[in-house]
Amino acid sequence: MAVIVYAESDNGIYKKSSFEATTYGKDLADKLGTDCIAVTIGNKGTQNLGVYGAESELNVSGSTFDSFNPQTYATALSEVASSNGGDTIVISQTYTGKSIAPLVAVKQDAALVTGIVDMVDTSNGFTVKKTCFSSKAIGHVSINHSKRVLTLIPNSYKIYQDGSEISSSEVSTSVSDADNNTTIEATDKVTGKIPLTEAELVVSAGRGLKGPENWDMVEELADVLGAATACSKPVSDMEWRPHSEHVGQTGITIKPNLYIAAGISGAIQHLAGVGSSKVICVINTDPEAPFFKAADYGIVGDAFDVIPRLIKRAKEIKAS
Ligand SMILES: Cc1cc2nc3c(=O)[nH]c(=O)nc-3n(C[C@H](O)[C@H](O)[C@H](O)COP(=O)(O)OP(=O)(O)OC[C@H]3O[C@@H](n4cnc5c(N)ncnc54)[C@H](O)[C@@H]3O)c2cc1C
Repeated sequence: MAVIVYAESDNGIYKKSSFEATTYGKDLADKLGTDCIAVTIGNKGTQNLGVYGAESELNVSGSTFDSFNPQTYATALSEVASSNGGDTIVISQTYTGKSIAPLVAVKQDAALVTGIVDMVDTSNGFTVKKTCFSSKAIGHVSINHSKRVLTLIPNSYKIYQDGSEISSSEVSTSVSDADNNTTIEATDKVTGKIPLTEAELVVSAGRGLKGPENWDMVEELADVLGAATACSKPVSDMEWRPHSEHVGQTGITIKPNLYIAAGISGAIQHLAGVGSSKVICVINTDPEAPFFKAADYGIVGDAFDVIPRLIKRAKEIKAS
């Protein structure tokens, strides 16, 4: 019995969500009276996962894993879990995590629960708290299966560092180059920006901004606040903004500490991806916009007036 955590890295740097998953895995392992084993695949991060609670770290390396392929990564993770007694596998619900978790669950013949937002309750079985109905509700799901794959929404669990450094061991799997059925020819990466899934503050805008030429003020507000930028689906469909910024049911699910939404109506499909944000601030000219019902702070006003004023005030506060 062990809790396996998949620690995702990008070019030798762990994602913040990997530290979160590791701390979560460690706390869960303590509850279950077992060990937390971190598994890395490909070019692992340089930081030490022991500090975040991992008791051991296993690395699957090799050129086969140079680029991400859900099939090969899922097979490798599943094999390492099996050979190390891993009956609970924790995966952060990132793009990568979302694509491998169901595959791992099938390979393990395990129960899969996605959208987890809190620690497992083990007082009476194994009950997880998760978002459901497009983040409109919270569900408490009892898992009656000896094997589980859990995906944790980033920013759901407090990261802390009270472990000690560990060394990692290389492990091999049956995966070979022949299993790589896709070739990645080129990768376009957004650089110098805060990754949306890891951002604690997000400034987002929708069709109310009228056109791509008006995003300078959104970017400026994000810059001043140290936030990432996001957008609604129509905005990315019209190519006003890149698809990597699209949040919602068909886009990314985020859970920042603060989500500022300007000129977004708050359709249920949009809320599905942002409704679990800790604080939501909505700027909309229409006082009846549905988003106000989900907002902690609402500003009935024109984004073209409100955003510049927010930028000015944020700059003043920073300067003082
Ligand atoms: C299957 C399916 C999946 C979907 N998935 C997603 C998804 O993942 N993410 C997503 O976002 N949508 C998704 N949608 C689309 C969703 O239903 C909405 O159509 C979309 O979210 C609306 O985008 P919007 O709020 O930017 O635009 P609109 O609905 O056009 O709203 C614009 C808002 O801006 C306000 N406004 C106008 N001018 C100003 C101004 N000057 N200042 C301030 N406010 C102003 C208006 O009052 C209005 O509320 C999905 C739809 C379907 C059917």
